[in-house]
Amino acid sequence: MSDYCAAPGLLPFDSALENMLSQITPVTDTLSIPINQSLNYVLAIDITSPLNVPNHDNSAMDGYAFAIESIKKASTLTLVGRSMAGAPFEGECKIGECIRIMTGAKMPVSCDTVEMQENVQVSEDNISFLEDKQCGAHVRKVGEDIKLGQTVLRQGHKLSAVDIGVLASLGISTVKVFRQLKVAIIATGDELKLPGQMLESGDIYETNSFVLCAMLEKLNIEVINFGIIEDDFAAIKEAFIEADSQADAVISSGGVSVGEADFTKMVLDDLGEIGFWKIAMKPGKPFAFGKLPNSIFFGLPGNPVSALVTFHQLALVALTKMQHAVELTRTSLQVKCIHDLKKSPGRMDFQRGVLSVDAQGENVVASTGAQGSGILSSLAKANCYIILPAEQGKVKAGEIVTIQLFDSYIV
Ligand code: AMP
Ligand code: MG
Repeated sequence: MSDYCAAPGLLPFDSALENMLSQITPVTDTLSIPINQSLNYVLAIDITSPLNVPNHDNSAMDGYAFAIESIKKASTLTLVGRSMAGAPFEGECKIGECIRIMTGAKMPVSCDTVEMQENVQVSEDNISFLEDKQCGAHVRKVGEDIKLGQTVLRQGHKLSAVDIGVLASLGISTVKVFRQLKVAIIATGDELKLPGQMLESGDIYETNSFVLCAMLEKLNIEVINFGIIEDDFAAIKEAFIEADSQADAVISSGGVSVGEADFTKMVLDDLGEIGFWKIAMKPGKPFAFGKLPNSIFFGLPGNPVSALVTFHQLALVALTKMQHAVELTRTSLQVKCIHDLKKSPGRMDFQRGVLSVDAQGENVVASTGAQGSGILSSLAKANCYIILPAEQGKVKAGEIVTIQLFDSYIV
């Protein structure tokens, strides 16, 4: 927890995150689903391997299998059979003999080594070996990938495309996972119109629900989209009550400032238990977190950059915990910043940056330019955050800064 106090009334980012996470209870309901529908679900059990992978010694090459003793005695061996993937040679291969073998085919009993076909000379059934071989060459050993009984994936792990392949390779057809979360999203604002509609004077296109839907989909969360709700106490209250009755979490955007049309706080005071926060972060100062009667509530700021960054840095972390997922992989690096950055002490900045490799092969970061909280293109161009701690002032070109690479939820 940061003890930096130069921004009175603002909650340090780390305290906000810690406080929020301490109030999140992970889901416990589980279900069994076919592995081909399990992408991004969170495992409810440890997976232990029911077999060795591979489950028999097999050839890594198209070539010839033999016992190493054979080519110590003679460089030409007699071909006595073939072993194909799925059609193994079940006979005996004696000293002085070899077997034609294909990639993935089971090693014949009494063979321990394979030579690739490019390195032999074939004359009818006589195979001449041109090079010395190490015992075991080009043989994939039983269990060299995964051993019988080994823990392969742990409870709380979010299943990736590769994990689904691993499950298939173990012969596992269904997995036990935690149920999907349901999240309701509500965009508030009289000025908001849907893309495709005509804009009237003073209107803008609604952006936040589109970004949130896409990110929630990547999180494997079922979205209940309430669309645009006008800046009206009764309308917002009705939407919140309906959303709370259907969802595990409710996310609104807009209306969390203290302007005349900012009703979110009032509705929350009326319906639930609310921590209404001003967080010492930029973008994103106004952010609400709390509990409605049946669900968790996140109130994001309206500005699209603020909404996205607070969702990504705060709400998403909480939703991941709620999904029962143990890991959220975000990589931070220390790199040189190639130009000056504006910053006043007081809030933790999540500036948008582009990490690249310069002509000397060194990692360097540049700003994406104007950082206003309404400038969504500053995020679209970026591949990382430049995270500047609250107490930090401006950055001079050449200074080392901390960056956080964008994870797959944001790109
Ligand atoms: P508010 O928090 O409601 O005061 O909104 C702050 C700013 O964000 C205003 O300029 C709003 O027009 C804008 N805004 C609010 N909600 C959205 C939205 N869903 N999409 C795009 N811009 C929004
Ligand atoms: Mg508004």
